[in-house]
Amino acid sequence: MTHLNSRDDCLTMDARDPLAPLREHFDLPDGVIYLDGNSLGARPRAALARSQQVVAQEWGRDLIRSWNSAGWFDMPKRLGDRLAPLIGARAGEVVVTDTTSLNLFKALAAALAIQEGKDPARRTIVTERANFPTDIYMADGLTRWLDRGYRIRLVDTHDELAAAVDEDCAVLMLTHVNYRSGRQHDMGALSALAHARGALVIWDLAHSAGAVPLDLHGDGKDGGAASGADFAVGCTYKYLNGGPGAPAFIWVPQRHQAAFSHPLTGWWSHARPFAMDHGFAAADGIGRALCGTQPVLSLALVECGLDVFDNTDMAAIRAKSLALTDLFIALVETRCARHPLGLVTPRAHAERGSHVSFTHPHGYAVMAALIERGVIGDYREPEIMRFGFTPLYTRFSDVWDAVEVLRDILDNERFDKKMNIHARRDAVT
Ligand SMILES: *Cc1c(COP(=O)(O)O)cnc(C)c1O
Repeated sequence: MTHLNSRDDCLTMDARDPLAPLREHFDLPDGVIYLDGNSLGARPRAALARSQQVVAQEWGRDLIRSWNSAGWFDMPKRLGDRLAPLIGARAGEVVVTDTTSLNLFKALAAALAIQEGKDPARRTIVTERANFPTDIYMADGLTRWLDRGYRIRLVDTHDELAAAVDEDCAVLMLTHVNYRSGRQHDMGALSALAHARGALVIWDLAHSAGAVPLDLHGDGKDGGAASGADFAVGCTYKYLNGGPGAPAFIWVPQRHQAAFSHPLTGWWSHARPFAMDHGFAAADGIGRALCGTQPVLSLALVECGLDVFDNTDMAAIRAKSLALTDLFIALVETRCARHPLGLVTPRAHAERGSHVSFTHPHGYAVMAALIERGVIGDYREPEIMRFGFTPLYTRFSDVWDAVEVLRDILDNERFDKKMNIHARRDAVT
């Protein structure tokens, strides 16, 4: 794999790739090599017709009847059941709803409430300083609002993490694949550590779902390693290709459902939403993780992304993901060897997600030049260029071509050395 040294070799790989036909399920623009599916997945072709159906027929003609006739009301649970096998969860344990930030808030609130009942002295929430900021912000907001003396302990290294999960730790809250480095944690080992010390563990799967095999139940049936997770949340608009701002998901295993309580008790989490009772009574089961009315159009499009996964399985996706990221690392390191690029992402397969990050002193300007040439990755502070590989639609020849554009930009200094993120005009990088 890593010895591929011509574009023809990559074309041969494409010809042999069992996932190659799945690219047809996506509508990608000509002249673009899309390496940002870890941030916003590409559009499934079916999404266009589906959005027209929802707007023209379900909304336009059937109007309010569509809550029943088109299944709008049941969509969070129905899509949760469809997503469940991709993360090694069971039916009735996942809902597609709200945002990752909000779902994390609910999961953390529920985990703290469970610990209050069991071991009320515990006061720390342990997470990584390198976690995606919204996760830390949400934990910060929740604990300030609770005002019960909870502290967020931010750790920088694995050793620090192991030490921080002590008898004061209520919840260990981690992201499985880091958004910046692409580093993947050993979910099973860290969950086991948390449980051994009496803590609960919440996993954010934003950069994992649809990219790496997961076995939330840890029964080994789904091919991933045992997770030991207590709760999990994640995005549908990244590797699951659900569309911009598509609702996120939350997993609450059956064993925690009866004790799962959170403060966002809207009417959709009520046992009888249309009874219009004065008092709140939580729904049985996963329904209690809902809050209020969902963006139906966005939810409907999530299904178009999930449909594509019916044609393959996570083991095949993982095999191709590792082949793509191995190839990219090898080509960058050989063909761009004389440039100051630093690999941030771990080389060990077990520690790698599905994107690869390299630093470059002019990372922001180099990424801008790549995007200008149709190679779309993105940039994250400090100096990090991110390249995401989505096995459903990324070809081996795309990897070759992307590295050739990068080489040309670097060899010929075709980037603006004066450009930097602090002078940027766009709100989103
Ligand atoms: C992408 C991402 C999010 C996004 O959260 P939203 O509420 O959808 O904006 C959250 N956490 C992690 C780790 C992410 O990678």
